[in-house]
This record gives sequence, C-alpha cells and structure tokens, in this order.
Amino acid sequence: MALKDLFGKKKKYASIPGDKARKDVPEGLMQKCGGCQKIFYQKELQKNLNVCPGCGHHHQISAYERINYLVDEGSFKEWDKDLLSKNPLNFSQYEEKIESDIIKTGLNEAVVTGEGRIHKVRMAIAVMDSRFRMGSMGSVVGEKIARAIEKARIEKMPIIIFTASGGARMQEGVLSLMQMAKTSIAIQRLHADNGLFISVMTNPTTGGVSASFASIGDYNFAEPGALIGFAGQRIIEQTIREKLPKDFQTAEFQLKHGQVDKVIPRQEMRDTIATIFDIHQFGGGESHAASSRV
Ligand SMILES: [Zn+2]
Repeated sequence: MALKDLFGKKKKYASIPGDKARKDVPEGLMQKCGGCQKIFYQKELQKNLNVCPGCGHHHQISAYERINYLVDEGSFKEWDKDLLSKNPLNFSQYEEKIESDIIKTGLNEAVVTGEGRIHKVRMAIAVMDSRFRMGSMGSVVGEKIARAIEKARIEKMPIIIFTASGGARMQEGVLSLMQMAKTSIAIQRLHADNGLFISVMTNPTTGGVSASFASIGDYNFAEPGALIGFAGQRIIEQTIREKLPKDFQTAEFQLKHGQVDKVIPRQEMRDTIATIFDIHQFGGGESHAASSRV
C-alpha cells in the first residue's frame, strides 16, 4: 500500500467481502444490508424504519414494528390475540412447529389484527408476519383477518391489510385453502357496504394470500422490491417452458403490468394512507400537519 493511500478519502461505511467475515459482526449492534451488503448500526436502520439509508432496500420487519411505524402513538388495540392454531389434520409435528414459532417471535400466529388511528382517523388493521410459519395462512390467520374485515364493515372503519406470506399453510390442507374464499367473501361484503380496503403487499406476498384478499383492495399497494406472485418463477418456467424476465414478480414489475396501483416507500406509507382517508372523507377533516408524526 502506498503511503498516500493511508490518507485517502475514508469510506463512510465498511463493507464485508464474504460470509466468513460476517460472523464477526456483533449481533444486535450491527446489521448487514440485504441490498448493498454494507454494514450499518442497527439503531441507524431502525431510525430509518429499517430501510437502508444507502440503497433504499426495504428490510423485513415484524408485525409490531410495522404497526409502530404506522399508527398514532399509543392508539393500537389488539384483537383476537388469544386465537391459537389447533392441528385439525393431525399433521406430524405441526404443534411443535407452532410452539417453537410462538417462542421465536413472541406472536401467537402469523397475523396481528386490531384497531388504531392514523392522523386521528380510526381504522382496522391487520399485519402479517413472515417470521411465523413463513406468514402462511391457516384457519387462525384467515379467521383473524375475516373478523377484522367484518368489524371494519360493521363499525364503518377503513381497513388496511399488510400482507407477507408464503401462501396457504400446508399442515392444514384444504382448511387453509378455505381461508382464501372466507377472506375474499368478507371483502366482498365490505365492498357491498361501501367500505374501504387498502391492501399493502410487502415482501413476500405469494400463493394463496396473493390469490385472495391481497389482490382485491380498493387500492393495491406494494413496498419497493417486494416479491409478489402466485407460483414461484421456476414452477412457471417448467410449466410454460419459457424463460421469464429477471425482474418478474417484483412490486415494480407488477406495477408496470397493472397488478399493483402504486409502489410506496415505507417512509411515505403513513402520509399516503392519511391522504386516502381524507379523499374518502374519513375523520372530521382534521389537519394532517397538526397530527403528523413521521
Ligand atoms: Zn443497502
């Protein structure tokens, strides 16, 4: 190394070359960006709603983190927290897997539902969490979502659902598939009563969830870079015997092809939703600026 290199411009962030080096990063303090591979203080990322300040990569977040980022402080009240999955088909080791995910995530199932406020407007909200059984939709997930939609309809609140799901939960077989119909019918009833449903697809939204309620919002939004699709790329390629484009099934691809109405960065989500509430005349026309938090 030449002497002058020692006094060169310092890199703002360190970058690591490989997996071996990554093990040296102290857990809980630093985090490697899944997009640009640079290392950040976790605090720095959290302050930025877990969006990389360098490349804009949207990291996956837990259901409660998302709710915190979104609703007016202290306004969230959870519903149906104690609904627990059974093992209706006696699927081998299903109970053990549920139990270990409960311990791992601190959640009882792959969705959190409840009510909260955005810019003081009361709304129903459901947020899926892909850390729990890959966000798969079994009877409890479907039931919690259907109940939240029904409550929104009866109490004339808008509902927002953030999806993050690998699809139907295979351990519950056809009972999982039934949840697609149940949630979609609940949305249909909401629409018949002039209710408002905003769907926000986050990474990943696939399978039975993408093929049911996630795609039938009055507004279908997505987070940047989210994987959105029904079957995986490899399966489709094998079925149709054609090569698919590289960006196939990203939020941006779906936007270009009319499947998504808008791709919204996480930092803009709260204000965008507030604007939509305003357009649909929810709330008493209160000033957004006065209650804005983000
Ligand atoms: Zn990055």
